[in-house]
Amino acid sequence: MLTYSQALNLILERAAPMPARRVPLPEALGLVTAETVLAREPVPPFTNSAMDGFALRAADCAAATREAPVRMPVAGEVAAGRADRFDLPPGAACRIMTGAMLPSGADAILPVEEVTVEGGRILVAAPARPGAHIRLAGEDIQAGGEVVPRGRLLRPVEIGVLAAIGCAEVPVHPRPRVAVITTGNELVDAGQRPGPGQIRDANIHSLGAQVRAAGGEVLAFPRVPDRREAVADALARALAGADVVLTNGGISVGDFDFIKDVLEAMGGEQVFWRVAQKPGGPLGLWQMQGRPVFGIPGNPAAAMIMFEEYVRPALRRMLGHAALHRPERMGILAAPWRKQGADGRLAFLRVATRMEAGRLVAALAGPQGSGVLTSMMRADALALVPPETLAIPAGGEVLLHLLDQPEDH
Ligand code: AMP
Ligand code: MG
Repeated sequence: MLTYSQALNLILERAAPMPARRVPLPEALGLVTAETVLAREPVPPFTNSAMDGFALRAADCAAATREAPVRMPVAGEVAAGRADRFDLPPGAACRIMTGAMLPSGADAILPVEEVTVEGGRILVAAPARPGAHIRLAGEDIQAGGEVVPRGRLLRPVEIGVLAAIGCAEVPVHPRPRVAVITTGNELVDAGQRPGPGQIRDANIHSLGAQVRAAGGEVLAFPRVPDRREAVADALARALAGADVVLTNGGISVGDFDFIKDVLEAMGGEQVFWRVAQKPGGPLGLWQMQGRPVFGIPGNPAAAMIMFEEYVRPALRRMLGHAALHRPERMGILAAPWRKQGADGRLAFLRVATRMEAGRLVAALAGPQGSGVLTSMMRADALALVPPETLAIPAGGEVLLHLLDQPEDH
């Protein structure tokens, strides 16, 4: 059986960034640039006013004081969007709006609040500083300069900057399309009432939401009953359209757990199956038609933990993120913990953390059965207890993966 880090490495070795593609800006939020974007034009594209006020030559009112204001005729008005450049006559001012092109000859703006308007003239009671309230062409972004480097996460601000330079389609690593296939004769839809022996399919929703939260695009597949032909059929269809396939359930050693057999019968090459861990022991990875196919165990908490620890980092690599893993911190356990017996497996414990006297204290977030999803809901971290550790006293140290915090390495 593989160790956690061996399995993780085998997964990450097979996850390459998605080939670059240009996507329209409205679809680019949260994606990562695949190329450096250069500005073809300066921003702002022309010198303009930063205020509503009056454009003038600073020299014309250099002598202005409160006692002896300078009177200047208002020779015109320019509003934002006006295409022709206004020519400012010597000694005159021009009414100007924020964003309007600076008239030729003008070198300062006096905000409207700082002048007195008197019929067709203004009274200027203090000198204007040359360059005041003027936004120079290219002062934000120079033409030819690097605006957004490769590998950059596109937040709303990057989207705005790209729009400003006219990059309406941005080269990114597109979202991997992830097929999620849940299996099990016992499963019914969330909106259905389960009959005897049936339960609702929670995982199609939790795994789908995890895919979306990680930045992937979900390809939803109809749930598959525990029949070989049905599994094979779903897999074939998934492989036709997906970059990654997640099968869920049927990967253990039960009589109806034949995901593995079907994958191999279809030519899937096993990368690994089974990891020395609990929950999630039966986790497997196959390579089929150049794509990774994960076999994720069906227990709902196990499925989510496997996604979080193994699939999410892979999707992040495909998305071009440099940081793949959640922050790791050492914390202390609030209460003693003991393993059921020496099983040689890494334990993932669902814990809720709090800061206490400068230390991160972790308490079990509820029952740890691999089917118990509410303890996953209450957890904000996973504690990773090494395979050989059989017990941890209260106050003993544990390694934590902080699930609610962005990846940092
Ligand atoms: P399996 O991995 O198929 O052996 O399933 C292990 C346990 O998880 C069983 O109790 C299943 O009923 C349950 N399970 C499997 N798939 C799902 C699912 N999609 N939603 C909720 N529970 C599931
Ligand atoms: Mg099953």
